[in-house]
Amino acid sequence: MTVVSRPDGLADAARLIRQGGLVAFPTETVYGLGADASNPEAVASIFQAKGRPSDNPLIVHIADAGMWPTFARGIDNRALSLAERFWPGPLTIVLPRTGATPGIVTAGLDTVGVRMPAHPLALSLIRESCRALAAPSANRSGRPSPTTAQAVLDDMDGVIPMILDGGPCPVGVESTVLDMSRTPPVVLRPGGVTVEALRELLPDAAIDPSALSPPVDGRKAASPGIAHRHYAPNIPLTVVIGSRYSSKLPQLYDDTLSSGGTPILLLSDESSEAFAPRRCIPLGPYNDPARISSRLFNALRELDNSGATVAFAESFPAEGAGLALMNRLLRAAGFSVIHSD
Ligand code: AMP
Ligand code: MG
Repeated sequence: MTVVSRPDGLADAARLIRQGGLVAFPTETVYGLGADASNPEAVASIFQAKGRPSDNPLIVHIADAGMWPTFARGIDNRALSLAERFWPGPLTIVLPRTGATPGIVTAGLDTVGVRMPAHPLALSLIRESCRALAAPSANRSGRPSPTTAQAVLDDMDGVIPMILDGGPCPVGVESTVLDMSRTPPVVLRPGGVTVEALRELLPDAAIDPSALSPPVDGRKAASPGIAHRHYAPNIPLTVVIGSRYSSKLPQLYDDTLSSGGTPILLLSDESSEAFAPRRCIPLGPYNDPARISSRLFNALRELDNSGATVAFAESFPAEGAGLALMNRLLRAAGFSVIHSD
């Protein structure tokens, strides 16, 4: 496996993509594991490398809106104005797929998610290879998404030939997935573009109930990936929901210690001071959910190396950037929650 930093590896990476190989590359959201979106065998090897269930569709990454109609149909004025406003950026637009889109990219769905990433290295890789990239996050399936080249290496060493290292991903949570094939449009997965920002252009945009609740048995998930176990650290994690600075978090910590366990807390900076000297991973200022989001996946990976046996996390208001944050945190916890009030 080669880990290369920009721009040395770009030509080799582009050649690998053209030959049907896999390359992990940085985007502004998380690291992606890319293959030529028009090559079904190359795309199949993404599923294999990740251990990804075959019903979980991939996002097609483009560098120019001119590449969009190759994959999606029904690109109307609303879709175009969304692209104009939010691309390049963390918004995936789902529309009916064209016949030229391999079925394996969309996991058999008749729609396709497309986005233009806002990372110079991602855009250069697409341009240099002259290929759209089908790419999910570059983690082993079920693990937290990687926001550094090291996190990709931890999951994928020996499995993929190359990682382009572009430093830490600034957004740190994945794109917002917006289904424009339905009326009204539906946010299937909250992400780097807030629902509030989307509604400035699409006042009628709805939010899929799965944003903050566990998959309901018997209900076919609108976005299949949502139903799978996701972002899970190797130790049990519980989210404590309720008022700020409630005594519940320190109490759970102290009870775990006295029963012989090794606890650790995921906290805002303010709570980590308030609950000192208990062991914690500080995530950032409580009122800055975007900053906390950018730290979250790395913090979940730190839990695995912490030696702790159990973790408890503070909860945050699920609005603005906080919706994507709570979506990821609740999934990482497998929806294990305790209400403090
Ligand atoms: P990942 O890049 O690993 O976050 O995975 C991409 C996610 O985007 C999938 O898990 C789906 O939830 C979503 N997605 C991609 N394409 C579609 C589609 N055609 N319809 C609905 N959701 C999609
Ligand atoms: Mg993923």
